[in-house]
Amino acid sequence: MIIAIDGPSGAGKSSVSVEVARKLGFSCLDTGAMYRCIAWQAIQDGVAFDDAEALEKISLEKEIAFTHEEGNPKPVGVSMGGVDVTSAIRTREIDRAVSPVSAVPGVRAALVAQQQRIGNAGNYVVEGRDIGTVVFPDAAVKVFLTASNEARARRRVLQNEERGVGSTDFEEVLADIIRRDELDSSRAASPLKPADDAIHIDSSDMTMQEVIDEICALAQKAMG
Ligand code: C5P
Repeated sequence: MIIAIDGPSGAGKSSVSVEVARKLGFSCLDTGAMYRCIAWQAIQDGVAFDDAEALEKISLEKEIAFTHEEGNPKPVGVSMGGVDVTSAIRTREIDRAVSPVSAVPGVRAALVAQQQRIGNAGNYVVEGRDIGTVVFPDAAVKVFLTASNEARARRRVLQNEERGVGSTDFEEVLADIIRRDELDSSRAASPLKPADDAIHIDSSDMTMQEVIDEICALAQKAMG
């Protein structure tokens, strides 16, 4: 069974996904991390962010692998072509590189195929931008999670502080979030947009626990 959680950056998808998965006994798939891996590899290889052919080649040839720990729905690490990139994919440089890279149709096709393979092998909470529209259009539950720009920037700053990576300057993070959403929403290939049958949740004035409870209730209902 698939629970799809889409929405812009900083809406709380990651924290919510892991807790929903924990409660339901599901695993998590963070599809954003996969696009970040391609952006990281492109930088390592000196590939331009508009070189569609080279970016597609990376997506088809390099293996993205998540490391799992018993009893933890969220992977503890991610590697790209055998190199641990868990922290390296969370820098501001990657924040900036990832939108153009993820707009390349060949990159999307390669990663969507991998995401479908992973998700179809078990019960997953899958977070991203196009999960309910493209990757798993038949997902049992589809949520579109949003929040105001300010609420999202505040949360992202806290998350970066906790992770010890990425910018912790509010204005800088706010500007980056707005720019990235514009790019993600306006691209031709699978733009960020809610599925017609997605349930919209605006988390600006909700606690994370309230959001988690609401999604779990939707999942319980779907499971009958
Ligand atoms: O979720 P996160 O902020 O880590 O995603 C990083 C970037 O990856 C997004 O800004 C977007 O460009 C891309 N992405 C995507 N489709 C997804 C997940 C992420 O295009 N399903």
